[in-house]
Amino acid sequence: MKIQSILSTDGIFEKKLENFKARAPQLDLSIAIESAIKNNDILISEAGTGVGKTFAYLVPAMLSGIQTIISTGTKHLQDQLFYSDIPKVQNTLELNLKIHLLKGRSNYLCLYRLGSIQQFSNSFNFYYPEREFKDIINWSNTTGSGEISELTSVSENSNWWFKVTSNNDNCLRSDCPQHKECYFYQARELALDADLLVVNHHLLCADMAIKEQSDGIGEILPSAGIFIIDEAHKIEQSATSFFSEHFSNKQINLLTTDIFNDMFQISGDYAIKEYTEKLNNANLKLVASFGPHQQKKPQDDIKNNKNIYQAYDSVIDAIGALQKQLKPHKDEKSIESHSNKLSTITSFLTNWFSNNNNNDNNDKDKNDNHIKWFEVFKNNYKLHKTPLSIANYFSKHIHSSDASWIFTSATLSINNNFNDFQNKLGIKESQQIIVGSPFDYNKQAMLYTNKNDLNPQNSDFIARLMESAKPLIKAANGRCFLLFSSYKSLNEAVALLKDEFSLLVQGDMPKMQLTEKFITDKNSILLATKSFWEGVDVKGQDLCCVIIDKIPFSSPADPVFVARANKLKQQNLNPFEILSIPEAVITLKQGAGRLIRGVDDYGVLMIGDGRINSKFYGKTFLNSLSYFPHTQDTQQVINFLHEHTGN
Ligand code: SF4
Repeated sequence: MKIQSILSTDGIFEKKLENFKARAPQLDLSIAIESAIKNNDILISEAGTGVGKTFAYLVPAMLSGIQTIISTGTKHLQDQLFYSDIPKVQNTLELNLKIHLLKGRSNYLCLYRLGSIQQFSNSFNFYYPEREFKDIINWSNTTGSGEISELTSVSENSNWWFKVTSNNDNCLRSDCPQHKECYFYQARELALDADLLVVNHHLLCADMAIKEQSDGIGEILPSAGIFIIDEAHKIEQSATSFFSEHFSNKQINLLTTDIFNDMFQISGDYAIKEYTEKLNNANLKLVASFGPHQQKKPQDDIKNNKNIYQAYDSVIDAIGALQKQLKPHKDEKSIESHSNKLSTITSFLTNWFSNNNNNDNNDKDKNDNHIKWFEVFKNNYKLHKTPLSIANYFSKHIHSSDASWIFTSATLSINNNFNDFQNKLGIKESQQIIVGSPFDYNKQAMLYTNKNDLNPQNSDFIARLMESAKPLIKAANGRCFLLFSSYKSLNEAVALLKDEFSLLVQGDMPKMQLTEKFITDKNSILLATKSFWEGVDVKGQDLCCVIIDKIPFSSPADPVFVARANKLKQQNLNPFEILSIPEAVITLKQGAGRLIRGVDDYGVLMIGDGRINSKFYGKTFLNSLSYFPHTQDTQQVINFLHEHTGN
């Protein structure tokens, strides 16, 4: 079957698939992907909104006869592919491929943890009264897949899921007495045999990290012949997280609970409690010693803080004392596994608290460039050791595999090239294609930047921006998104607009509900920060105007960003050009992408930040949005809104 006969005008999809319309850019992209698959190439592709990139890659991949892994940035897209898009292609083309979905370990019920909780409650004749726990027990008796998203009556944020699922840190793996029946491992077995496997970036990167640490032992995913990385603009962030080391005080809390439960089962007494409590208390003191919550700081900032170091010493002592108590029971697999985990925690903490980034005389570590940093929350701290670049890790995996790699997203290029993306991932050579949106931006949209030189560094910036935005909001009769780079700006805008307009504000309700309310309310304006810059899809005239406060540069206080910038400076490179601008361009394109979602949409994108016109770097941002006709004429924009949005 030829791709042209499927995706072109009067092709199979137009004849058989409801609502499918052939689009030339989709066919171009699909042909490029087919060619990359045939030649085992790396292809980097950008497809504007509305191209239909999902079918563009599914068709050649599913016709290739080669085992394929598709990785998405979000679970939402993972589900959409598995439950909707892939079955459409499979049925329409009458294929018979084995298709599986694999999520991370923490998305499946852990039979071992659930069993421990039940055993504990039986031993003490104690019954958990919560409705959620009863729902989980009932569901656990009937589920086939153990995938927790099946049980919709328990919120995905419920603390109960935290108690009855496992993660990379606390899963007992082959030491688990229920390894054979384990839902995650069963799903993984099926995944190994799939013709087409749908995963997300977290799992893909977790697999790479495991291969990196263990030379392939314990890998999660099969070695497929085609890797398709959708939402590829998110892959660097996922890879950075997975090639980092993390530690949170919650890991100690979970481990001490497991140790207490297992030791109680073995010895039938509470003797171990003295030691688990001692460790929990030392851990609590360490949390308190970090000081005020809501801060992210480099480890360097606390290296002379005696309180923190004393609290850390107490944690190490308490771990040692607990390990001594476990020693006589090491023949028990679960106890041996707990003891090993305590050793891993000790070694991470010792390394993290040492005042030398490369203290362990390990050659590999010496050559790596990491930043150690921490975050403090209300009752929680997290310690991180993050690589300054993931290019070496990622390129090793890509270039050592024989597979073809297809990277695709609506926002990957900067100034019409992929240099930044290639450098970040360490990709040496690649085929490349950019296909524009099939939407007619010249007719459907307008980019408006204000003539007044509004500078975000001025204290009256938000007040002046809101004054400039009000005529547009009125002309659009509400139906606007106002996207901010910080909560401070958002709150200031809310105070300025609340008496004049009907507002929906991020945080009032969950994201999905807030978006639905925006659609049904008709004349509201929605004010939000970064989480609404992508993954929100409001089609038609429900959304007529997107107003972005400023160029979304990363926070200069972010320790990883600062460390990366310092590293570039040491190499006599310009971090603003190499780091700040590319990141901000991609984020801005994501925000702009909320506006036009269909051929019948019309709307205005307003960028309030005057630096886009006045500063030398503004051109890079304007070039990246060059598919929008650009104006600084307020009246022209108001007329456009009146003309096209029915006011
Ligand atoms: S192997 Fe055991 S501990 Fe790990 S997820 Fe499966 S049931 Fe839970």
